[in-house]
Amino acid sequence: MTVIRPSDEYLEQPYYRHLAEGTLHLNCCNDCGAAHHPPSPICPKCRSFNTGWKPASGRATLNSFAEARHAVHPMLGPKVPYVITLVDLEEGVRLVSGIPEGMRFDLKVGMPLECKVIRFDEAFALPYFLPVGEGGA
Ligand SMILES: [Zn+2]
Repeated sequence: MTVIRPSDEYLEQPYYRHLAEGTLHLNCCNDCGAAHHPPSPICPKCRSFNTGWKPASGRATLNSFAEARHAVHPMLGPKVPYVITLVDLEEGVRLVSGIPEGMRFDLKVGMPLECKVIRFDEAFALPYFLPVGEGGA
């Protein structure tokens, strides 16, 4: 599977470290409880610096999706066409994701999804969201 690997500097950050361990964690505020993404040392809801990490439930809803038919980078050429998804997590966070290479689903906006973390090497994994019952969680 061809994916663009973030630099080692990014992979050392908590978001990617949790994924490499097999779970999606979200940056959360310890004061107001809000989850947010991308991670930030300041809560975007209440401006608290008291933030931490909590495991996500993995439950999400498909907000939108598109099929990319043009490779925006030569490395992505062999992947075209591929599906990009916008998913709303139960925790109130919206993530850009995709459908893993080689998989095809009949996607419908609003359908329930579940997270599947796919590992590419020891330090790098990404969260994907599949229709419930299609191998997620
Ligand atoms: Zn907060």
